[in-house]
Amino acid sequence: MNVKYFMPTRVVAGKGCIVANASLFSRLGKRALVMTGKSSAKKCGAGADVERALAAQGIACGLFDGVEPNPGIANCRAAAKAARAFKADFIVGIGGGSPLDAAKAVALLARNELADEAIFKGDYPNAALPIVAVPTTAGTGSEVTQYAILTNDAIESKSSISWDGCFPTLAFLDSSYTVSLPRGTAVNTALDALSHAVEGYLALKSDAWSRAIAYEALRVFGNALPRLADGYNDEDLRSELLLAANMAGVVIAQTATTIVHAMGYSLTYFKGIDHGRANGLLLAPYLDFIVEARPQGVREVLDALGCRDVGRFAELLGSLLGERESISQDEIRKFSAIAIKTKHVVNTARGTGKADIESLYAKGLRAL
Ligand code: NAP
Ligand code: ZN
Repeated sequence: MNVKYFMPTRVVAGKGCIVANASLFSRLGKRALVMTGKSSAKKCGAGADVERALAAQGIACGLFDGVEPNPGIANCRAAAKAARAFKADFIVGIGGGSPLDAAKAVALLARNELADEAIFKGDYPNAALPIVAVPTTAGTGSEVTQYAILTNDAIESKSSISWDGCFPTLAFLDSSYTVSLPRGTAVNTALDALSHAVEGYLALKSDAWSRAIAYEALRVFGNALPRLADGYNDEDLRSELLLAANMAGVVIAQTATTIVHAMGYSLTYFKGIDHGRANGLLLAPYLDFIVEARPQGVREVLDALGCRDVGRFAELLGSLLGERESISQDEIRKFSAIAIKTKHVVNTARGTGKADIESLYAKGLRAL
């Protein structure tokens, strides 16, 4: 039996859960730095709920509202400086994966002086500040992972901080915050969560726990994704997706991701394609590739999703993705040379060479 399950985050879910559970903040300290992107925390109401809950507990609240999409090291260093200046006892991240990951990096950097090359090493002298995560997209599952994924110009891609100290202490899931998501972001973030469940189910690091959780997330996605094509106004749909994204986050916290994510990072870094969409473009060709090595696993993924075969899965994704971006032969070669060097390759269930990765890019996008 090979099981290494670990999930130390307390998850509280439901409409109004932040204000109703405000006392949970008081265990974390007296001063909180709230980290958000430019506007979504205000727009969706989560910022006001956090402020109210902190005020009710007599906790002083500072704000850093400059987290950029796909945050990089400099952005996180600026926020860590603000956390130290404010003498924050803990960090509250509100937003999609970008503010949540930045909050984790800041919780680490506020307590540890690290040179750029030491940030992703994983061996840090001091504990991070406690982290509270409030997702406002139903996608990354970052609220229950130990990863903070930052843009890393030194390798022209993204790198992960992967450290148990980055698991949030608390996560609040309230699907009323996702009402304000633009349709494109709702779809792309759902595709990210789907990708976590699919990759997690088939990852070499998967085990009985992670597959059980992934299967349930896939079952929800199978039911929810066709409805997503009609819009995002259905409250049941939004709460199902938020919970499934959370479950998929629990999955990748155990299994990590595979070649799809490694390939997607270049599509984001060089072509500006949203993280979830980048994965979504590659997912059907990936399943088709993996089936030879894991026919039973792929069958189970398709069963959970209610798809009779990979072709039906590709159709479902196609209806959400619309027209695909093009990719040149030079880009395929360059991106594949980056992806083949990543640790994601050895977590992929079928032996993967550079030619395989090139072929996946060509099938996922419109190869020129
Ligand atoms: P995001 O970059 O956090 O947000 C995308 C856009 O959506 C931003 O413009 C944001 O606005 C807006 N937005 C967020 N919530 C909204 C809401 N409720 N209403 C209206 N607009 C809203 O996107 P994401 O896909 O959630 O996160 C992507 C990042 O997560 C990537 O960096 C990826 O690498 C990382 N990731 C991390 C993990 C992990 O385990 N740690 C897993 C997967 C992905 P504002 O800028 O105003 O907030
Ligand atoms: Zn992802």
